[in-house]
Amino acid sequence: MSAAPTFSEALSEAERVRILAKTARFEPPPAVLPDGRRDLVGLSRAELTETLALIGEKAFRAKQLWHWIYHQGVTDFARMSSIARPLQRKLAEHFVVGRPQVATVQTSADDTRKWLFRFRDGQEAETVYIPDPAEDRGALCISSQVGCTLSCRFCHTGTQALVRNLGAAEIVGQFMAARDAYGEWPSPTGETPRLLSTIVLMGMGEPLYNYENVATAMRIAMDHEGIGLSRRRITLSTSGVVPMMDRAGAELGVNLAVSLHAVRDELRDELVPLNRKYPIAELIAACRRYPGASNARRITFEYVMLRGVNDSEADARALVRLIAGIPAKVNLIPFNPWPGSAFQTSTPAAIERFARIVMDAGFAAPVRTPRGRDILAACGQLRTEGQRARLTG
Ligand code: SAH
Ligand code: SF4
Repeated sequence: MSAAPTFSEALSEAERVRILAKTARFEPPPAVLPDGRRDLVGLSRAELTETLALIGEKAFRAKQLWHWIYHQGVTDFARMSSIARPLQRKLAEHFVVGRPQVATVQTSADDTRKWLFRFRDGQEAETVYIPDPAEDRGALCISSQVGCTLSCRFCHTGTQALVRNLGAAEIVGQFMAARDAYGEWPSPTGETPRLLSTIVLMGMGEPLYNYENVATAMRIAMDHEGIGLSRRRITLSTSGVVPMMDRAGAELGVNLAVSLHAVRDELRDELVPLNRKYPIAELIAACRRYPGASNARRITFEYVMLRGVNDSEADARALVRLIAGIPAKVNLIPFNPWPGSAFQTSTPAAIERFARIVMDAGFAAPVRTPRGRDILAACGQLRTEGQRARLTG
């Protein structure tokens, strides 16, 4: 017999139920074309098997299709050579292997590339490829929602109301479409270097307010008979949805990045209003119990540097006291201004001073160099220029 849940566990469970119920109100439309054909991308293995059973196909077909869809990256049933012609035709009558449509794509002078992807209902979200200048690989920054329910004061996405959640197909589809663009199919087996070798969930939206779809998409990306990304190569960034952090840690075990940005509740309440619900002490406690955190797999604390707001030496010292003992690194992100934003970027000297204190306490404190400035591609503050142009144009 299992022990009765403690008060705080019961509270967390109630919170999770509430969050998931709210999430359901923003579900994406079904992944079905107007002609009735269903998109097979975004189905879990079990769902793919069930879907094929609906047209009388056996379970081993799901395995075959999984290989073609996620290992080979094939979108045309006629190219699936291990499947006989009549079945190829039957599959094409009922299903498609979809991709988000590229609305715009821009490549920066530093090779950062930004896509605006359009989904079937016309909604759009941005994805950014950020090359690692030191290596032949890079990270794909993907979006989890169109807009965001939260309204962090320094974030441009936060000025846009949540339109809807992205579905699992739309989330993993951003990665698959980027692989199409770089010609990186089939998926590598072993450690073959690939440009698209890392996913960061740092685009538009709060991934832990769209947990089920994000989890399905990440499980697909991690499945080793398909895309096969290791969980160490996926980082989920959250503004601090504490009850869901536990669940993501237990179920997905991906790397965690936490958007901290302030070390006093009074200030964090202002900058990251979610702090009023899950204050710093609770957030840090959730980081301390995050499974798998170790020196090899550190938790990333993101800290946006706002001039005269959160960048003092006292803030830096309070930060290292707060995270003492957590295997962590601190990403210092120079604030990226947008029209109408109320903040300025910290001076280089202030960033330097702050970084020094954090490093002296034994934490890595890289300053995230701005990438793709010329195409407004700063990961995590993706701007909907296209949308604004259409609204004003
Ligand atoms: N909603 C999640 C993930 C998307 S935001 C989260 O908040 O963590 C990804 C990162 O970009 C966050 O750390 C966010 O605080 C940061 N960010 C948002 N706007 C920014 C800006 N204008 N300048 C620099 N970083 C910003
Ligand atoms: Fe949403 Fe993250 Fe922007 Fe906050 S920083 S408004 S949680 S996308």
